[in-house]
Amino acid sequence: MAKAIEIEAARREVLARVRLMAAEEVALAEALGRRLAADAVAEAPFPPFDNSAMDGFAVRAADVAGASADSPVALTIVDESRAGHPAASALGAGQAIAISTGAMLPAGADAVVRVEDTARGSATPSGPTGAETAVPVEDTVRGSATATGPLGANAVARAGDTTRSPATPTGPGGADAGPPRSPAGTAGRVLIRAAVAAGANVRRAGDDISAGEAVLRAGAELGAAELGALATIGLDPVPVRRRPRVAVLTSGDELTPPGRPLGPGAIRDSNSRTVAALARLAGAEVVSVDWTPDEPEATRAALGRALEADVAIVCGGISVGEHDHVKAALAELGAEEVFWRVALKPGGPTWFGTRGETLAFGLPGNPVSVMVTFLTFARPALIAMAGGEPASRRTTARLGAAYEKPTDRAHAVRCRLELDERGWVAWPLPRQGSHVLTSMLTADALALVPTACAGLAAGDTVDVEILDRASMGR
Ligand code: AMP
Ligand code: MG
Repeated sequence: MAKAIEIEAARREVLARVRLMAAEEVALAEALGRRLAADAVAEAPFPPFDNSAMDGFAVRAADVAGASADSPVALTIVDESRAGHPAASALGAGQAIAISTGAMLPAGADAVVRVEDTARGSATPSGPTGAETAVPVEDTVRGSATATGPLGANAVARAGDTTRSPATPTGPGGADAGPPRSPAGTAGRVLIRAAVAAGANVRRAGDDISAGEAVLRAGAELGAAELGALATIGLDPVPVRRRPRVAVLTSGDELTPPGRPLGPGAIRDSNSRTVAALARLAGAEVVSVDWTPDEPEATRAALGRALEADVAIVCGGISVGEHDHVKAALAELGAEEVFWRVALKPGGPTWFGTRGETLAFGLPGNPVSVMVTFLTFARPALIAMAGGEPASRRTTARLGAAYEKPTDRAHAVRCRLELDERGWVAWPLPRQGSHVLTSMLTADALALVPTACAGLAAGDTVDVEILDRASMGR
C-alpha cells in the first residue's frame, strides 16, 4: 500500500496543480466575496481636495493667533462652503467662511475653527439692551441645519436636482440666532474663541489615497471595506476572477436525503449539504450536487459528469471496501492519481488527482472527515484558483488537557478555544469520532498534532487552525 503523504506535502501537491480562473467584470454591487483579478489603482487622490474635518469656520490661522475665550477675535463671515457646494469667494484677511464637514477648504483659508470654539456675534446691536449678543454657535448650527446640516446637504447634493433653491433656515432654531442673517446664514460676524495652527481641522487632498496608489492588490477578497474602497476610487464594474465551478458527488447506498423515509440501514446524507456549503464559503460556484449508489456503472456515470467541472469533489466510496468504486471509476475515466492516503486523522483515505484541467478530490465519507479534508486540501485550492492567498488562519495555543496518540499520522483535534490571561487555550472536545458531526457545531479550531508526536501534556503549545466564519459560515 502506498505510504501516506504528510498534510503539508499533500497541500503543496494540490496547490502545484491549481489553474488560475479567467478574469471577468462584475458590477461593484455584485462583487461581495469575489477576488480582484488586477490591482485596483486610484487615478486621483482621495480626498480629491483639501476639506474640513469639522463643522466650523474656515479662517487664516494668522488672523486668530491671539484668540481665546476671554479675548475672542471677530471675523466677518463672507460666504459658506458646504459639502458638495464650494464657496464662491476666496477668504481675505479678517474674514471667515462657514464650512461644514467634508466641504472644500476655500482658497485663502489655511485652518478651520471648530464650531464649538466660536460664538456668533451680530454686526449690529440687536438685543434689548443694545449690547452685542453672542449666541452659542451650537444653537446657531442647529438652527441653520437646513442650510448647512447633513439633511440639507443630502437634499441638495443630488446631481440633476435643478429645482434646488438656496436653503432657508426653517427649523425653530432659525429664530435663535438673534441677529438678522442672510438665507445662507453667512451674514454677520463670528467670534473666534480659540487660536488654531495652520492646517488645524483640515483633511488634505490625498490624505487617505494618493494618485497612482494601489488600494487593493490582485487576489484580494472583496469584503465590505474593500467594496467601499473600490467605490472611493470610482471602480465599477470590477475585474474579478471567475468563481471555480465545483461539482459535489456523494456516494453510498445508505444515503437518503432529508424529506424521504429512512429505510432499514439507511442514514441521512449530510455531506451534500456540508460540502456544498464549504465550497461556496471558499468562493466556488456549486454547479451540481449529485448522488450515486455503490455500483460501478452508476459511479462512473456520475463521476463522468462531475469531472466536467473545474473541481470535482466526491464524498465517500474512496476507501478499500468491496463496495467502494470511486477510485476505480476515477482511473477508468482518465483521472490521474497524485496521492491517495494522507497521514491525517480524521481523513486518512483522501484521494487527489487531476483530469486535464479539472482537479478531483475523493474525500472519505465520514461527516467530520469530509469537512476536515475539505478545509485542509480543497479550500486552499479553491482560494488559489481565484487568485487568493491560500494560507489558513493559523495560530498557536496551549493545550487545555493532555492528548495522546500513536505516531502513525497527524491528528486534527477538534477544540474549543478559550482566551485566558496568557493567550489562547485549546480544549479538545470530548467526542473525536469522525462520525460525530455534532462535534463540529462547537469546534472553534483544529489543533494539529504532528505525525511524529506521541502526545502532548496540558499546557504544551500546539498549532491550531481556526474554524472561523470565513471557512465555516458561522
Ligand atoms: P465511506 O467513505 O463511503 O466508506 O463512508 C464512511 C462513513 O461515512 C459511512 O459510515 C457512511 O455511511 C458515511 N457517509 C458516507 N457518505 C455520507 C454522507 N453523504 N452523509 C453522511 N454520512 C455519509
Ligand atoms: Mg460508502
